[in-house]
Amino acid sequence: MTQPLNRRTFLCGATATVATVAGAGVLASMDSSLTETLGDTLEGLLQKQYQRMTPEEIQEALARIERRARRRQGVTIRCVNTPPRNQVTFGFALNLSRCIGARRCVEACFRENNCSEHNQPYIRVISLPKGSWDLTRGDHGFNPATVPEPDRWYLPVQCQQCEDPACVQACPVGATWQEPDGVVVIDYDWCIGCRYCQTACPYWARRFNWREPLVPAARMVSETHYLGNRPRMRGVMEKCTFCLQRTRQGRQPACQEACPTGARIFGNLLDPEGELRYVLEHKTVYRLKEELHTEPKFWYFTDV
Ligand code: SF4
Ligand code: SF4
Repeated sequence: MTQPLNRRTFLCGATATVATVAGAGVLASMDSSLTETLGDTLEGLLQKQYQRMTPEEIQEALARIERRARRRQGVTIRCVNTPPRNQVTFGFALNLSRCIGARRCVEACFRENNCSEHNQPYIRVISLPKGSWDLTRGDHGFNPATVPEPDRWYLPVQCQQCEDPACVQACPVGATWQEPDGVVVIDYDWCIGCRYCQTACPYWARRFNWREPLVPAARMVSETHYLGNRPRMRGVMEKCTFCLQRTRQGRQPACQEACPTGARIFGNLLDPEGELRYVLEHKTVYRLKEELHTEPKFWYFTDV
């Protein structure tokens, strides 16, 4: 079977093949779109890790991503790299008393982040028997005719943006890290697809592209971020980034906006006047799997 030309196959020896093609003078006889494709592919493979790129190199990478989206998906996107803001650390609190298991957050997240039809959404909502916190008894694929069910409660789970993230420690090539605003990100162009991070994450948060992602052009969200919802490739990892393409521009995450009951509270943990801080200071809050010391920046609470 033919291997796609990505960073991993490149590292495994595809360099020689490409060099031979180029060296044989084939480039000269190619039409311009093929030359652009090959040029972009080579430059992409030689690209540095995001944190080590100069501002000029980042601009070139963003332009390549936009060209690739036009070529491959026939869509016009804008890809930016809006940086973290000073004095901002993002966090989330979710009111479990209000969650009715409608999964609107799941759908909105899937759309906003240009997720592949081949992949599971970033957010999973787990249905549990009332009174139980035993996640081993949770139903991750519930599908009742109506929600909420009288004898169940619902626990939405996504990347917890851990302060001490097991996924980051597991990555052998530095393709995933924590940004200054607390969001754990992935450089899709640097990921070699080993999936160590997926195994290390205790919250089922990471999704791997086993196949070339399928995102119909009609639902492609065109405002994208390099570390967020830009088009991904086969063989790389992805996950929730608290919608950094939105939230770094002062907007709310798609899941928060879509929730019909107002169960989700997103904000800046460093803002003492914010609703998030109010919840953390006045409610009894819980974090998932506290005993693992991953220090999630995602809290759960109830009205009780
Ligand atoms: S929830 Fe998982 S993927 Fe997200 S930061 Fe924590 S360990 Fe990493
Ligand atoms: S799959 Fe995960 S651990 Fe492996 S390179 Fe990609 S981000 Fe790093």
